[in-house]
Amino acid sequence: MIDKATVDRIIAAANIVEVIGDFVQLRKKGVNYQACCPFHNEKTPSFVVSPSKGFFKCFGCGKGGNAVGFVMEHENMTYPEALKYLARKYGIEVHERELSAEETRRNDNRESMMVLSHYAADWFADQMFKTDVGQSLALGYFRGRGFTDATIKRFGLGYCPEGGDTFTRAALADGYQEEFLTGTGLSGKRDDDCTTGFSAG
Ligand SMILES: [Zn+2]
Repeated sequence: MIDKATVDRIIAAANIVEVIGDFVQLRKKGVNYQACCPFHNEKTPSFVVSPSKGFFKCFGCGKGGNAVGFVMEHENMTYPEALKYLARKYGIEVHERELSAEETRRNDNRESMMVLSHYAADWFADQMFKTDVGQSLALGYFRGRGFTDATIKRFGLGYCPEGGDTFTRAALADGYQEEFLTGTGLSGKRDDDCTTGFSAG
């Protein structure tokens, strides 16, 4: 495990324009930088990098985050891998400490819940975009309120079908464990307690 002080140093050292500039041709626009998004196909740039905030954001597909998040997403790395990559880039020495069994378990849990949250966001979006009832009820509703499809995707809106436990059953069938379903709050004891707008955050 990389200790917190080192993580802070890496994040402080990582210049987001330099980090992203290694992979994407950035153009300066005002105080920010702009490019065509590396995460979705587009012809007009909606990918913005803010050096002052240390953040990137794509207004097309909704992806955003800091330098570490960019490296994770773009290079398909885990959080520690991305930190080590940035540490190498900025000449920061990284001492790793062995995790205790308890810490390993906690990290595994956190990772499982993150994976599950992404799965859920995709699932609810599919229910809205790819089912008849989702399209007519939820998608029709959002479009009727003036939401464009790009906005709907950007905010990770989705549709939860009636009969409450549909998601839980789908997730269990896809191999997700019940303890994480309840741990993330995605499945509750009350099955009719259902979310219509699910944020992928
Ligand atoms: Zn994008």
